[in-house]
Amino acid sequence: MTTIQPALADELREQALRMGFSLAGIARPDASAHISFYRDWIEEGRHGEMAYLSRPDSVSRRADLDTALENVRSVLVVAHEYFVEDPIGVPMDPSRAVIARYARGDDYHDVIKEKLTALAQWLGERTDRDLSARAYVDTGPILERDLAQRAGLGWFGKNTMLINPKRGSYFFVGVLLLDVELPPDEPFVEDRCGTCHACLDACPTGALLGRDETGAPTIDAPRCISYLTIELRGVIPRELRPLIGNRVYGCDICQEVCPFTLKFSEVTGEPAYSPRTELDGPPLIELGERLLSLSGKGFLREFAASPVTRAGRKGMLRNVCVALGNWGSEEAIPTLASALADAAPLVRGHAAWALGQVGSSAALEVLSSRFEEESDLFVLEEIGLALGK
Ligand code: SF4
Ligand code: SF4
Repeated sequence: MTTIQPALADELREQALRMGFSLAGIARPDASAHISFYRDWIEEGRHGEMAYLSRPDSVSRRADLDTALENVRSVLVVAHEYFVEDPIGVPMDPSRAVIARYARGDDYHDVIKEKLTALAQWLGERTDRDLSARAYVDTGPILERDLAQRAGLGWFGKNTMLINPKRGSYFFVGVLLLDVELPPDEPFVEDRCGTCHACLDACPTGALLGRDETGAPTIDAPRCISYLTIELRGVIPRELRPLIGNRVYGCDICQEVCPFTLKFSEVTGEPAYSPRTELDGPPLIELGERLLSLSGKGFLREFAASPVTRAGRKGMLRNVCVALGNWGSEEAIPTLASALADAAPLVRGHAAWALGQVGSSAALEVLSSRFEEESDLFVLEEIGLALGK
């Protein structure tokens, strides 16, 4: 263990801000106060299909940072902002696809990890010692946002996001575990949501459940559009499809209505987070046709280094079909007809539902023709329901 003067903590925070982070704080590496809540959340199955969150090693390492870095003494927590404006017409135009803001540019993991690694190098040079450090950006088994609250960066809003009273919530959190003893910041203990419930009222699927008896915000993850369009690998429950609207990857609604983001969000200065044209409110038909023309591997190549690769080609096409169904325009029929002939039953089934939503005689004709040659039971069921059989 090495003890270093407290002034170093100020220098480290300042250096983090110079490197483009908008917030920086220091937390003690104690076991997470929220780990029991996390365990309850897992036991209640609120994590849906995100099985990696419930693995025993993952849960225990979330409680003990020592297993992530031997002799960890301090944790630097940083916030990196990603807010970008919506393009004109989005999200109101139902013929355009909405992608969550954080996913319109390049993947943030590499961007933040690179900065944290540079920061660790700076600290090693500054202290002239062989530093042990480890950077995490939600890839590691660490409850980053919990550490951020303990480092004074903000509180957990009723929308489950970490909110800073002067910056809102459009930021990623990264942590740097250090074997250097640094004085911690005061945790952010106040709940600044007060009587506000704008996010609960605005959530289209009713996924936000308010605070539990301990004051922690709770979410029914399997109802959340972010989960349904990104993490869920299979069929989107029928009753939830109409509630998804034109959101094809993630959802920002509960942040968009929050008074703190409305007041304080500023467009990010990070070039890597600038929206790619093809992910900045593209026409649904254009996006659908593009995805249909790609193989699974081709999709990964075409969208390399974009967060949307997490959903995969099938997942993205499934989501686009749902959004086309919610648009309900006859203009979508040719794209949906192609999707109804896709190799993946998941895509065909959601295309069938969408054609049923369009509901015109031309759409029903496409469904009837496919019914004759379809052999997959799920797709047959969707076609049958769409045709009212
Ligand atoms: S991300 Fe969207 S669906 Fe999920 S809780 Fe927030 S508003 Fe609801
Ligand atoms: S919208 Fe209101 S209740 Fe929801 S997180 Fe923001 S301040 Fe809290």
